[in-house]
Amino acid sequence: MAQEALSLGANTFQFFTRNPRGCKAKPLDPADVAAFHALCAESGITRVLAHAPYTLNAAAADAHVQEFALQVFADDLVRMENTPNQLYNFHPGSHVKQGVDVGVEKVAAVLNQVLQPQQTTMVLLETMAGKGTELGRTFQELQEILRRVNLPEKVGVCLDTCHVWDAGYDIVGNLEGVLEEFDQVIGLEKLRAIHLNDSKNPCGAHKDRHERIGEGHIGFEAFARIVTHPQLAHLPFYLETPQDSLEGYAAEIARLRAAAGRK
Ligand code: FE
Ligand code: FE
Ligand code: ZN
Repeated sequence: MAQEALSLGANTFQFFTRNPRGCKAKPLDPADVAAFHALCAESGITRVLAHAPYTLNAAAADAHVQEFALQVFADDLVRMENTPNQLYNFHPGSHVKQGVDVGVEKVAAVLNQVLQPQQTTMVLLETMAGKGTELGRTFQELQEILRRVNLPEKVGVCLDTCHVWDAGYDIVGNLEGVLEEFDQVIGLEKLRAIHLNDSKNPCGAHKDRHERIGEGHIGFEAFARIVTHPQLAHLPFYLETPQDSLEGYAAEIARLRAAAGRK
């Protein structure tokens, strides 16, 4: 995967820790781990982002689903320590009919069970579009989870541009205002990664349908401002756009790099 990312002009990548809709994870092959470390050292890849399966719902009402979330989360964090100092992103979850407050408590409780003082992995809560009863649709909801975490230095936030846009944050017309709000509510030092996705829907639609960069309602100009913004430019950016070929990603990366003035 690292090799493929490099061949596209990327210097980082995101991957699923296991089937995004399933639960079984392959045991790690020590030879793979060693090859990954060697390639990273040689190519300058310093941070990669692991994505938890979508089926992980830490806020679930059902005890079995909650138990599954705990197990997968804990197991993933153990596996992540084979490649120290990386990022692990998860969707806060859906509270279904329990309400935001109960959902927030449950997610925080799961984090407080799985986070270990000795872990080197930074766990990231992803900003969500607010589809259905998704938690994390506002910066306040994320902060409510964060402030309940006993090991706050192990947790940060991954901002998904499509999701915040769909949630109602106008990153096209008022990027400064949105970042200011993020800083006031959560603190920009907590922002550790960005998912770069255009959106098929207008601001506030609460839909979560990703679009290729520059082909949706957010538009290329806004992405050029995001990747060059002095408070964001140092962060790792990950594409989750609907491309049907690797060349499509290579082209998006090249266009964004050109806009950022990097080769
Ligand atoms: Fe995600
Ligand atoms: Fe995302
Ligand atoms: Zn999404």
